[in-house]
Amino acid sequence: VPQTHDAIILGAGAAGLMCAAIAGQRGRRVLLLDHAPEVGRKIVISGGGRCNFTNLHTAPDRYLSQNPHFARSALSRYTALDFLALVERYDIAWHEKTLGQLFCDGSARQIVAMLLAECAKGAVEVRCEAPISGVTHGDGLFAVSHSGGAEAKAPALVIATGGPSIPKMGATGFAYDLARQFGLKVVQPRPALVPLTLPAEEALFRELSGVSTPVRARSGKVGFDEAALFTHRGLSGPAILQVSSYWQHGEEVGIDFVPEADAGWLVAAKRARPKASLRRVLEEALPSRLADVLAERVGLAGDLGNVGDKALAAAEARLADWRFRPDGSEGFAKAEVTAGGIDTRGLSSKTMEAVKVPGLYAIGEAVDVTGWLGGYNFQWAWASGVAAGQAV
Ligand code: FAD
Repeated sequence: VPQTHDAIILGAGAAGLMCAAIAGQRGRRVLLLDHAPEVGRKIVISGGGRCNFTNLHTAPDRYLSQNPHFARSALSRYTALDFLALVERYDIAWHEKTLGQLFCDGSARQIVAMLLAECAKGAVEVRCEAPISGVTHGDGLFAVSHSGGAEAKAPALVIATGGPSIPKMGATGFAYDLARQFGLKVVQPRPALVPLTLPAEEALFRELSGVSTPVRARSGKVGFDEAALFTHRGLSGPAILQVSSYWQHGEEVGIDFVPEADAGWLVAAKRARPKASLRRVLEEALPSRLADVLAERVGLAGDLGNVGDKALAAAEARLADWRFRPDGSEGFAKAEVTAGGIDTRGLSSKTMEAVKVPGLYAIGEAVDVTGWLGGYNFQWAWASGVAAGQAV
């Protein structure tokens, strides 16, 4: 089979669609393949169906990677405002929810329709239900066997099949296998933005399932001021999902249950109301079931007036840095993204091309770049897709 296309892109998710549109609009003959029955399924379910498509505070320090500088170039050349301008050209109504997070007012399907329209402008050939059975490389061409018998050949191949999080949606580790086939290294993939589980001895907290409260959650040196949610298995909510990306097995997670309180607030409460109990004071700041559990665990019974200042200061310190030792996470089945992935040291940060395999590119979640919760992962998918789309 002679050359059939200029570029073949594997995976029609966020990154693959963007890459295909940009390359197609540059006049490249692009084939975009996906094994799923429709394109962009994670976009459709994202942000509760409204797609948190970018974040105004996008910056390289909001991404995890073994090479924290890798994402800088692509993110600076295609910014959140660039994507927003595209959204506005398509008259898609949007709003900022919180913390710079931009969502569609209507439906995430509008983002998929927009990307497909951009692909159509570039005459991209989009094929769904096209499983890939093998890739070979010779004479400067990549040959892709797909759809049970078809073969396509092009001088450029883009790996955009994402990571293995949420396998029941068709997510696979295919990107890593293909990368390894071409000698690229893979940083150990692990579930990220994922709920953490608590051991049986934390049963009191697990009984709080459904209770949510604003906290400051910490893992090592990073901290996030957002809500935490207790579940029947452990801890979730945005603050916990954020720290989960940094958390390693065996480590503790610290939670400040009173992030807004001034230092010395408990002693001040005693001076103001010596007849109040700790539980009573906590109930004013926290959901009552949580206040009950925390008061029970702290164990200062009776009136605050009868408790020494030192003991109150110790209780305050404990409430500001409550230590949980999760025994695991809910895994890839529940992880919003995969951390780790194709090692950036083998890729050009300008074009996403493999340094040692000219013509081979990797973009999106398949690469070892993982964003915080809040639209950062899509922004990386768009930016890395544009970088490769301009280079193929
Ligand atoms: P994907 O979008 O996952 O696309 C990969 C594509 O490759 C898929 O279409 C898949 O079918 C295809 N594929 C996989 N394996 C194969 C194979 N073997 N052969 C052929 N095709 C294959 N991020 C945000 O920024 N904001 C959000 O609001 C947000 N919400 C999310 C909600 C949920 C429930 C989940 C799971 C994730 C969410 N994310 C969000 C993360 C975001 O969806 C991903 O980071 C992003 O989709 C990654 O883009 P990608 O193109 O690299 O991979």
